Amino acid sequence: MESKIGFMGLGIMGASMAARILKADYPLMVYNRTAAKAEPLAQLGAGIASSPRALAKKVEIIIAMVTGPEALYELLWGEEGAAAAFSPGQVFINMSSVSPSFTRELGKQLAPTGISFIDAPVAGTKKPAEEGTLVILAAGKEEKVKELEPLFLTMGKKVIFCGRPGQGSMMKMFFNLLLGLMMAGFAEALNFGRLGGLELEAMLETVFSGAMNAPMFQIKAANFRDRNHPPAFPLKHLTKDAKFILDTAYELGAPVLGGQMLLHLYRVGVAQGWGDEDISAIIKVMELISGK
Ligand code: NAP
Repeated sequence: MESKIGFMGLGIMGASMAARILKADYPLMVYNRTAAKAEPLAQLGAGIASSPRALAKKVEIIIAMVTGPEALYELLWGEEGAAAAFSPGQVFINMSSVSPSFTRELGKQLAPTGISFIDAPVAGTKKPAEEGTLVILAAGKEEKVKELEPLFLTMGKKVIFCGRPGQGSMMKMFFNLLLGLMMAGFAEALNFGRLGGLELEAMLETVFSGAMNAPMFQIKAANFRDRNHPPAFPLKHLTKDAKFILDTAYELGAPVLGGQMLLHLYRVGVAQGWGDEDISAIIKVMELISGK
């Protein structure tokens, strides 16, 4: 009999990740603040918990995939929070993107409950979550991560062991720094070319014909063609991550000059009301700044 899994947070990522766990025949119970989002999973056979604590009382492994620190605190220590029901023998896996220092602090705060804590954010967005091809950046006790591998592989194609708790979050921030810079760089170059009289299709063909043909550029090209940015990775979430990257860089003494720019550029997008659009909407910030 597989362990009973509890999944909290059924947003863009969590809903698909929970569905993959269910598809692999693990007994699953879910909780989401907005209860209606749990309905499609109930249709697929998941149990629904009325609160995080009710969920924690019923399962052995608890996964959280929510926006960030505030949401995690709410789920763990808010009204009917899960942490009060945690006990030794259970496992808590945070898959949400947060800063490494927040993760280390979370580990300390959870220690008195005796629960095993795993820091396991993911690389990959909406489509890999639907297809179960995420990359899981797992940190914690190595033997526990190994033990959890079959569960992780219901959601992902690969597990990368990152070290002690905090290092999964560090790997995620490393990855999102590169992602944010690549996205902003692509959008900046396309806007530059447009103002210089180049056609979008010709610019895309030039990029796709050589060594710079990154799959991410191909995926986002559809958004630039349609001038529409349906959220796969919402711009507001990259903005939050840019803040975590800068805080971490300050602690480390690491220069993140591009990272500084990222925070401000993406914040302009959020201020314009584009936070719920995909990160590719950063091109609208470039157009706004150029005034044309
Ligand atoms: P999302 O669609 O915005 O969903 C956010 C989830 O967090 C929802 O279930 C939401 O509940 C819950 N939540 C927010 N505030 C809460 C609170 N105060 N109390 C309880 N629950 C709360 O986000 P997502 O795209 O799935 O991303 C989830 C996490 O994965 C984020 O940390 C994000 O940075 C990371 N991530 C995202 C992607 C991506 O491509 N989207 C890729 C990798 C990692 P409600 O439904 O009630 O609002």
